[in-house]
Amino acid sequence: ASPSDDSPTIFDKIINKQIPANIVYEDEHVLAFRDISPQAPTHILVIPKLRNGLTGISKAEEKHFEILGRLLYTAKIVAKQEGLDDGFRLVINDGPSGCQSVYHLHIHLLGGRQMNWPPG
Ligand code: 5GP
Repeated sequence: ASPSDDSPTIFDKIINKQIPANIVYEDEHVLAFRDISPQAPTHILVIPKLRNGLTGISKAEEKHFEILGRLLYTAKIVAKQEGLDDGFRLVINDGPSGCQSVYHLHIHLLGGRQMNWPPG
């Protein structure tokens, strides 16, 4: 995958329930599911069901304002649902230097352990 690649990703198969995922939140616009390779006791990905050009956050335009708000708000709802009352971290990797591997916008929700800063 590359930043300019607009082809479907594995996340489309998760959205369409063609491959299983541990879904923790779903509504008309947003899906949240546990990362297959968790980097913290809680590691959840929050994604738009309709990618609509959002291969990554660097592709965001004004037409995405509503979905971007929904994604952040959903991350907060899921953090609460997961009992992360003492804090958590949200991460968006973008492009090769940002270590992005799946080109369908996603917010990582990480929690359940002490995070460090800077992340490295
Ligand atoms: P990125 O590196 O693009 O920021 O994050 C992609 C994330 O998707 C990685 O943390 C990776 O573990 C996760 N991932 C990749 N394939 C799958 C999958 O098939 N199922 C689930 N649940 N997570 C996946």
